[in-house]
Amino acid sequence: MPFELPSLSYAYDALEPNIDARTMEIHHSKHHNGYTTNLNNAIADTPLINKSIEEILSGLDMENKAVRNNGGGFYNHRLFWKIMSPNGGGIPSGALAEAIDNKFGSFEEFKTTFSKAAATQFGSGWAWLCVKKDGSVDVCATANQDNPLMQDIGCEGVPILGIDVWEHAYYLNYQNKRPDYINAFFNVIDWSTVNELYLKGA
Ligand code: MN
Repeated sequence: MPFELPSLSYAYDALEPNIDARTMEIHHSKHHNGYTTNLNNAIADTPLINKSIEEILSGLDMENKAVRNNGGGFYNHRLFWKIMSPNGGGIPSGALAEAIDNKFGSFEEFKTTFSKAAATQFGSGWAWLCVKKDGSVDVCATANQDNPLMQDIGCEGVPILGIDVWEHAYYLNYQNKRPDYINAFFNVIDWSTVNELYLKGA
């Protein structure tokens, strides 16, 4: 099988109380595992099998719903686990901090913009911080398992930070209080990893 469910670099309970262990376990071992299996099934015996996930998503036939949903799900969750850490929180530094200040004026303004994008994404989806080719950053949101790598999605650049706002990401602990979950997410963002992704993508 070309794609494998990535293991987490921390335990399911490591992000508590911000994200509870049960949610993490179901989210990773059931949801992400499902996207991974379904992606592998969808690309089996097709030319996509030899491509990276980035190549698959950026060259995607958007009518191919199986690859769109499961390829997006595979990629989005892989990024999501990576940019969280039990030692997360705080604020970014270095080149990323500068890019955020250039775009939003301050970290607080960025946080407000990102949180609003996440809170107002109707139904299931993701909010993103992306880096563009010129090194600038921007915030946007996409529905379902779409992401900014897909063409003409109304969201441009390479995602370096993403929050899953599907109910499965927060409902057990936060029920309908999505803004509380978004606020808690900021306590576990691993800004050093996001900065690495920024430097790689810029
Ligand atoms: Mn999810």
